[in-house]
Amino acid sequence: MELITDIRQMQRWADATRAQGQRIGFVPTMGYLHAGHLSLVGQAQRHCDVTVASLFVNPRQFGSNEDLDCYPRDVKRDARLLSEAGTTVLFLPDARMMYPDGFQTTVEVEQVTRGLCGAARPTHFGGVTTVVLKLFHIVKPHVAVFGIKDFQQLVAVRRMVSDLNMDIEIVGAPIVREPDGLAMSSRNAYLSTAERQAARCLVEGLAAAAALVQRGETDGLRILAAARRVITDEPLARLEYATLADPETLEEVSTVCAPTLLALAVYIGKTRLIDNCILSRESTVEGRRLEAARDASARGAT
Ligand code: AMP
Repeated sequence: MELITDIRQMQRWADATRAQGQRIGFVPTMGYLHAGHLSLVGQAQRHCDVTVASLFVNPRQFGSNEDLDCYPRDVKRDARLLSEAGTTVLFLPDARMMYPDGFQTTVEVEQVTRGLCGAARPTHFGGVTTVVLKLFHIVKPHVAVFGIKDFQQLVAVRRMVSDLNMDIEIVGAPIVREPDGLAMSSRNAYLSTAERQAARCLVEGLAAAAALVQRGETDGLRILAAARRVITDEPLARLEYATLADPETLEEVSTVCAPTLLALAVYIGKTRLIDNCILSRESTVEGRRLEAARDASARGAT
């Protein structure tokens, strides 16, 4: 695996690779990698000839009271994992190179970033789309892979790519979970043993709502109540939001008659975790996975 830290050098590499007719797959990350990130590398490899992963803890997507300074970092381990996964290039810029003095241009996707996480994190998605656009101009990918775990981010990036006529295919990758169902996240590293147990309430809340929908329930309030009850029953958890939304527009909906996004943000102690699923009356792979996760959680698997 080649390590590139310089923006111009990354662009020259991308130009040369494109000139050879090779397709570039791209996986942007903030590092402290887990199997979820590596599954994105696998997806990029499936779609392309070469794969670039970036590792950049983007200061512009953290609010002033958020965890930028203590965000977990282990570049050496990340580089080893990416190399073992067959990544072609690791792009590792620093913040001064990405945001030199005088930097003043941002890109904002307006509507889909307002609700869900955007309500409590009003500057977050502007920081995300700005850095993603910069990275796209630097890495020049044909395909970029984003996790469905950050559903609103995926929708915002798709919107930006479509609105700005960018010639990049955006691929959404399924959520990779721990054996007990907890969605993998770099922030899980913050959890104490008791909090780690408590964090199961997110997937259990999703599973409770999914089970209700499978039994024919369509009323949004009842479905949300089922998810909320699981979370409010957990003493270490504090619900930020549980919302039903149209998976494309992210507008809130009050009934579940078509496949519908159920998205959650929950504080476990001081750690903010998110998770989501698509609710559907039909039995889906995701629905069966949630059921299995709930069973595993009940058995105490971690
Ligand atoms: P992050 O390093 O948290 O910015 O995440 C980088 C990419 O990995 C984003 O596209 C995330 O959506 C994705 N990702 C994070 N966690 C998971 C997971 N558990 N399963 C699949 N993708 C994930």
